[in-house]
Amino acid sequence: MINTNEKIYIVRCGEVALKGQNKPYFERMLVQRIKKILNRAEDEALKSNLGKVSVERNDGLIFVRTPLDVSEAEILKRVGRVFGVESISPAKEIAIENMTADEVIDEVGHVAAETMLGIIESKHIKTFKIEGKRADKMFPVESPMIAKRIGAYVLKGCKVLSVDVHNPEAILHVNIRRNFAYVYEQKILAFGGLPLGTNGKGLVLLSGGIDSPVATFLMAHRGMYMEAMHFHSYPYTSERAFEKVKDLASILTTYCGRIRMHSVNLLPIQEAIVKNCPEEETTILVRRFMMRISERIAKANDCMMLITGESLGQVASQTAESLVVTDSTVSMPVMRPLIAMDKVDIMDIAKEIGTFDTSIQPYEDCCTVFLPKHPVTKPRLERILESESKLDVEALVDAAVASEEIVVINSRD
Ligand code: ATP
Ligand code: MG
Repeated sequence: MINTNEKIYIVRCGEVALKGQNKPYFERMLVQRIKKILNRAEDEALKSNLGKVSVERNDGLIFVRTPLDVSEAEILKRVGRVFGVESISPAKEIAIENMTADEVIDEVGHVAAETMLGIIESKHIKTFKIEGKRADKMFPVESPMIAKRIGAYVLKGCKVLSVDVHNPEAILHVNIRRNFAYVYEQKILAFGGLPLGTNGKGLVLLSGGIDSPVATFLMAHRGMYMEAMHFHSYPYTSERAFEKVKDLASILTTYCGRIRMHSVNLLPIQEAIVKNCPEEETTILVRRFMMRISERIAKANDCMMLITGESLGQVASQTAESLVVTDSTVSMPVMRPLIAMDKVDIMDIAKEIGTFDTSIQPYEDCCTVFLPKHPVTKPRLERILESESKLDVEALVDAAVASEEIVVINSRD
């Protein structure tokens, strides 16, 4: 019998499914994340509505069940943002317990034909194919035969259609499991990746630019919880520039959950550098301080690595030589998920995740405040160390860390 009391969604776990003995752990984390993202609506009516949604795992799949009045678009939007989810299908569920194989085929065949009628109405298609699957190997009809027999019901019920196995205009999936069968058309692709919280916590150096929000997204996509570190040069950089970074963090919370953002005023360090060191080394020297301060803050907050939005050769401070000189200040691993990506590809991701429009708002960044005319592109460590010997590095870092402020950016719906 077809379940008409609730809406059902099949959620596939993608890479999570490959995790061998750890699979139950990854699946549990995924279920937890889905529940969490369904539970955080600000709108009270929506919250109570989503509160009635159930999420459970069953033999390699996750099933989301909602009352009929819960919007499909809302479920797809929310579940589609959970890392670890490969794809989602709104499905029809048919109870088949204690039925013979022929009875199952008959029941599912009718549901398939009826579903296909609905599809024809909205899409005016002429060809179709049934993709049959038998998750329950005890079921005596094999997958190709399931497809064939269900296909016959569809042909009978939808006279305008013919089968095209190579290039069908619609594919209807039939999945026969232990006590239930499922019929669905769409497989809506999600981001894949791994559930948040399965890969420790990192501290991302978050500027107001295009790159670092994308780097944040990509690391969270592999299951890492993120905290953010932002440097400003107030009053050279404005309140509004800081607001922009908070806006970016807020957009990122839709994927990463709540973000704690640490901020430090870099101005005293920049002034000391400008006063005491060669102008062309300003940027690389500032970056070395950023790394030192970030490492200290990361350690104090249980972050295992630093993450930046750098990409090889993008600007003077991102040449291979510059990156080596930057990294030699810290012992913590520095992850650069964009290192081998072109700017256009980074921009595409920024557009897809919704950070691009905010990133391109023209506000000043601390790095642009004392920008040298001709920055060194191949810095030599000995020269840099010599320049730094004119500064009280430890005292400057201590003072910067002591001035740290923290804002918590709460999760958006
Ligand atoms: P983005 O688009 O991320 O700003 P970018 O191409 O402008 O990158 P840079 O300004 O050289 O490049 O910065 C490289 C990386 O250094 C950034 O991706 C970010 O991780 C970090 N960074 C730069 N400025 C800041 C800042 N003000 N606060 C925190 N991190 C920063
Ligand atoms: Mg920048």
